[in-house]
Amino acid sequence: MCVEHLITARHFAERAYAYRKRVYNKATTKRTPQSGSKTRAQRTRFLKTRRSHSRKMNVSEVPEAPCSSPFVSGLSLTDVCSGNSATLFLSMVNVLAAYSPIINGVCGRITPIKRPLPIYDFIVVGGGAGGSVVASRLSEIPNWNVLLVEAGPDEPVGMQIPSNLQLYLNTELDWKYKTTNESYACLKTNGSCSWPRGKNLGGCTGHHGMAYHRGHEKDYARWVEMGNEGWSWKEVLPYFFKSEDNKEIGRVRAQDHGTGGPMTVERFPWQPQFAWDIMSAAKEVGLGTTEDLVGENIKGFTVAQTISNNGVRLSTARAFLWPHRNRKNLHVALNAMATKVNTKKILSKVKADGITFIMNGRRYNVRARKEVILAAGTINSPQLLLLSGIGPKSHLKSVGIRPVVDLPGVGENLHNHQSFGVDFTLSETNTNELNINSADMYFYNQTGPLSSTGLAQLTGILASNYTTNDDPDIQIFFAGYQAICDTGDRIPDLKADGNKETVRFTSVNLQALSRGRITLASNDPLHHPIIWGNDLANPQDRSIMYQGLQHILKLPKANAMKKYNMKMVDDTVPECEQYKKEMNYDYWDCQFRYNTRPENHQAGTCKMGTSSDPMAVVSPALKVHGVDGLRVADASVMPKMVSGNPVAVVNMIGERVADFIKNDYKVIYTLKAD
Ligand SMILES: Cc1cc2nc3c(=O)[nH]c(=O)nc-3n(C[C@H](O)[C@H](O)[C@H](O)COP(=O)(O)OP(=O)(O)OC[C@H]3O[C@@H](n4cnc5c(N)ncnc54)[C@H](O)[C@@H]3O)c2cc1C
Repeated sequence: MCVEHLITARHFAERAYAYRKRVYNKATTKRTPQSGSKTRAQRTRFLKTRRSHSRKMNVSEVPEAPCSSPFVSGLSLTDVCSGNSATLFLSMVNVLAAYSPIINGVCGRITPIKRPLPIYDFIVVGGGAGGSVVASRLSEIPNWNVLLVEAGPDEPVGMQIPSNLQLYLNTELDWKYKTTNESYACLKTNGSCSWPRGKNLGGCTGHHGMAYHRGHEKDYARWVEMGNEGWSWKEVLPYFFKSEDNKEIGRVRAQDHGTGGPMTVERFPWQPQFAWDIMSAAKEVGLGTTEDLVGENIKGFTVAQTISNNGVRLSTARAFLWPHRNRKNLHVALNAMATKVNTKKILSKVKADGITFIMNGRRYNVRARKEVILAAGTINSPQLLLLSGIGPKSHLKSVGIRPVVDLPGVGENLHNHQSFGVDFTLSETNTNELNINSADMYFYNQTGPLSSTGLAQLTGILASNYTTNDDPDIQIFFAGYQAICDTGDRIPDLKADGNKETVRFTSVNLQALSRGRITLASNDPLHHPIIWGNDLANPQDRSIMYQGLQHILKLPKANAMKKYNMKMVDDTVPECEQYKKEMNYDYWDCQFRYNTRPENHQAGTCKMGTSSDPMAVVSPALKVHGVDGLRVADASVMPKMVSGNPVAVVNMIGERVADFIKNDYKVIYTLKAD
């Protein structure tokens, strides 16, 4: 152990006692939105208390949790950071976060069941962006009991710190999907793209960038044009509001946002100066800025609002399930993988009867008195339907599954936002934002670099020449200045270029025309399905990305960015060298196909549509065609992915399905559309 590590260990050990006392006190008093910024007197008082506790404390003392069943387990930071990182420092950060009710919710988490009941009113499969909302809302009805089945474990401690964005990808908390047989994308990796997906309570919302967006009015008009009545902008908006508790009314307009819902929406408390300089550059080069991409001005660059709470990640599970941990009628099964929806035939009708799942090595068959709702995501929901005999008949037969309902659209219509990023080095040397001072700030009041995702909170929405300004189809993402440990080669996206500060600008096509599909590799539910993304097959998709890239390349030339002396990193693959001199469309088109960096916004594989559409899988009420008592409520039902970050849309889908069900069983109200 080096001297620096010893100093770090002592420094943090000395703080442990004071932090513990402070966070427990703080957890019992409700925070106000302004509480992040302490007055000078308050801070002096805190520092005095900290010093006095430090003197008194026994260094070997471990913080105690103030409840009988604390959650302090899961993958530790030292498990997911590379061996070269400062192990002792990371251990201390992990311990301090673990015992903090504010950061880790040490006593506020759900307690998973050990064994299920034989029958529930509703079974929800998947505890991600859709499933957590559905289970929460259905269990509001006291005489319904609900089982939520999630394949992964609870969210680990370090995941709650926003700057750890992506840190748990490519670990056991990721399904680690890879596409195959791509002809136009990821050619550098032999036509196989990595598609990470969260395998933990919260699903991808434990890993995602937290950016809050809804797409635009035109996205929903397209859904209606495809036959989905009841899904217009006017009709979906009340359900966005229902979930939301916007903390910035005033800066953003009250008429565009909801308050009082379970999901707080805010801006992170910290932004790197580079983000504000990009905002100036965007103004300077004519790309424009906006206060709120969800409001009246849907184009331009902005520091996005995020789904977080006072600088702590707020997964959908944390927002919708944790507060209801004491509901007797809500059972949550973790590490419980559903392998099949069981069906029975009543006269000529097929009805979902329950599910089979494996938990802790044991197989359970649990029945559903009323309905099963699949919310396992764009890859796993169609996989489960296929495993249950619901899908294209010929494909099912080819893998030895007896067809129950011939539904040709299951697994089809797979699409994603497609993207390509360019890296730039800056003149400044790379100073890791994860250090003692930033950790100190974070544990003091959840501010500073750890309370944000660095440049990932900055975004821009633009329109290509294929569309109009009221229907923009390009998004710009950024990465860099992220306070995160070294992950070695595990997450290539987080690697810096040498010792220079490195940033990434990414052009995203929001309205992909290319379509792929998901099929079964075998009838074994534990085998990954075959995923063929077919990304970028349509030349228009690449052309839209190219137009976004041309906008990106204007930014480093702006006066506002001169001080950084930005240099584009040459990442030319040998196959594209021949076009490099010109740097024209042919060059970039080649680079897009070899060096593709797919987004994580997959959708469409259980497409919503009426029964007159042979490729529709669910009705506009999200009921699986041809099967009673079975619905889907996740990203897979979107017939066309919206033009922006999708998670709030999936939450909205969860809110809607719960209301559809409540209406069908005549237990409650409908929200008014205006
Ligand atoms: C790295 C990353 C960054 C992202 N950034 C953003 C962002 O900034 N903003 C945004 O809006 N969106 C973002 N997204 C996308 C967003 O998170 C997803 O679109 C959204 O979470 C999809 O919701 P879902 O309910 O369909 O699936 P998920 O949230 O993935 O939930 C599915 C759940 O089902 C579980 N499951 C699957 N199969 C089974 C089974 N057989 N049995 C039991 N459980 C099962 C999974 O483990 C998972 O918990 C990001 C995604 C990723 C991966």
